[in-house]
Amino acid sequence: MLTNLQARDVETLIHPYTNLVAVRETGPLILERGKGVWVHDVDGKPYLEGMAGLWCTALGYGNEELVEAAATQMRKLPFTHIFGGKSHDPAIELAEKLKEIAPVPISKVFFTSSGSEANDTQMKLVWYMNNALGRPKKKKIIARMRGYHGVTIAAASLTGLAGNHNDFDLPIAGIRHTTAPHHYRLAEPGESEADFATRLAADLEALIIAEGPETVAAFIAEPVMGAGGVIVPPATYYPKIQAVLKKYDVFFIGDEVITGFGRLGTAFGSEAMEMRPDSISVAKALSSAYQPIGAVMVPELMYEAMLTESSKLGSFGHGYTYSGHPVAAAVAVKTLEIYERESIFERVRAKIPQFDARRAALEDHPLVGEARGKGLVGAVELVADKKTKRQFDPKLGMAAKCVAFCQQEGLILRNVFGDAVTICPPLVISPAEIDELFDRLTRALDKTL
Ligand code: PLP
Repeated sequence: MLTNLQARDVETLIHPYTNLVAVRETGPLILERGKGVWVHDVDGKPYLEGMAGLWCTALGYGNEELVEAAATQMRKLPFTHIFGGKSHDPAIELAEKLKEIAPVPISKVFFTSSGSEANDTQMKLVWYMNNALGRPKKKKIIARMRGYHGVTIAAASLTGLAGNHNDFDLPIAGIRHTTAPHHYRLAEPGESEADFATRLAADLEALIIAEGPETVAAFIAEPVMGAGGVIVPPATYYPKIQAVLKKYDVFFIGDEVITGFGRLGTAFGSEAMEMRPDSISVAKALSSAYQPIGAVMVPELMYEAMLTESSKLGSFGHGYTYSGHPVAAAVAVKTLEIYERESIFERVRAKIPQFDARRAALEDHPLVGEARGKGLVGAVELVADKKTKRQFDPKLGMAAKCVAFCQQEGLILRNVFGDAVTICPPLVISPAEIDELFDRLTRALDKTL
């Protein structure tokens, strides 16, 4: 029986990433407020937000400084655009700060409102750059199976998940997907992590050669895959992949939409994974999700090509109304200030051993095939047979069941592709709350059995 609010919801809202039939029966969980890592539903029941919303509320809920930063900017100047030579202080300050903390040399910053828009922009910039460089055929982009890059037409095409393509007539032309770096599922029997990484780099090289290196413009990767099931590549994976990209002059786009700003214990995931991308997309924790904002961080080579092309055409013909939105930018500036002032990334590093130990211990559970992760992000993959790694019939929806039991236990997690339950708490979670999270998840796994 739906509550009044739930009934009004299903009569009016289309829920993203939701079984649109099932939600009409069950109604959504309606949340009302939050503090720290806790959120409360409309009946006052507390839940530990074990997913930081959607991998994004890094500083947790109820951060008054962020609220104040937004309110102050709204009173001062709630909106001005940065088209055609206009600008404002928060956008300038934020771009300066991003350049300063970037893990690779960055020349300029382009703002968006989301991760999808950032990756869309990345694709357009790569094409624009290669036109400026006089190589109009070099346009294909290689992404990876199970990579997640968003849902706009371009970003969903880069995403390597069938659920984002089926019946949307995607991917668009010119996108290829190579193997996911998931050793547990995809390694040959007895293949070491290092040999697996070597094989994947060879696969990538074979793909580039088959397509014709003169047609391959870029490769895109998340340091650690998030929505594809929290896949952590072998330690030698990126150095080997990068050698191939360099050999064929393929631009490397780093998608740090989840891993940017401390998730892996370093400012950027690239640093934790020995990844050296040419450009970087960020969003989510850039503002701790208090405002929608993303960014593309662009190297000098790309910026110079943009200068050439825009002077030829008369204008750089790309930009969103909300590119560099002053309120979002002001909140992001404050977020970065808090990360620094409160040593949030160092404090994440101190919490990782406990998080790792509790996560790894879940592999003893009869339902768990692999309990993987890095930093404060993880996943447990549920299997029917631990020895053979046999998966459950997807129709059983085992991970979804587990997530529903988590909700009963007052814990919010997510189920994703491959019967995995993902964990990504706010970075400000305390050691006691980490124990609480894993205790509740263990109870939910027991109920799922
Ligand atoms: N890239 C990655 C790695 C993501 O995890 C996401 C969202 O989860 C996106 C891009 C898309 O971001 P958004 O949902 O803000 O468009």
